[in-house]
Amino acid sequence: MPVYIVCKQCKRRVPLAAKVRTQLPLVFSVKCPFCGFEGVYSPGDAFEEGVTRFECKSCGTRLFAVVESGCRVVECPICKSEYRVCAGGAVETMKLESYVPSAIVASALLGAIIGGATALGEKDRGKANALAKIVASGLMGFLVGTIIGLILESVIRVPEREVVYKGVQVS
Ligand SMILES: [Zn+2]
Ligand SMILES: [Zn+2]
Repeated sequence: MPVYIVCKQCKRRVPLAAKVRTQLPLVFSVKCPFCGFEGVYSPGDAFEEGVTRFECKSCGTRLFAVVESGCRVVECPICKSEYRVCAGGAVETMKLESYVPSAIVASALLGAIIGGATALGEKDRGKANALAKIVASGLMGFLVGTIIGLILESVIRVPEREVVYKGVQVS
């Protein structure tokens, strides 16, 4: 377990069931398995071991990898880009995947369809004129959709994600 606290009474390390400090609640109580002392702690009291944090170069997701010895090949859970992470914090890029956030694509397409459909529903349909209107409304919808998608993407973005570990640990 890479996250532990130091018992306030006997000063021994007590491992916690969390991979990183940010997964801990704001306040929590821990009963020391060595001396039985039950203390109240916060994430600031916890120590992390073997945790490497980095930002995915392709999709910008904040990632963490738990590598306590040697190096491991890991994958971004969002865009599947690959990195090699070593204990001590060295991060090497192995493979970058292109990434377009799905929320933006979905929202942009929806906007285009709604925009196009709105123009279709209009009463005065001079032929060329109507087509131009459909295209313009479609484009407008696409733009608005993209903006909504961007906003959605930034709102739903999770603060920190664990990488996917590939293959065995190499020392
Ligand atoms: Zn103790
Ligand atoms: Zn990524």
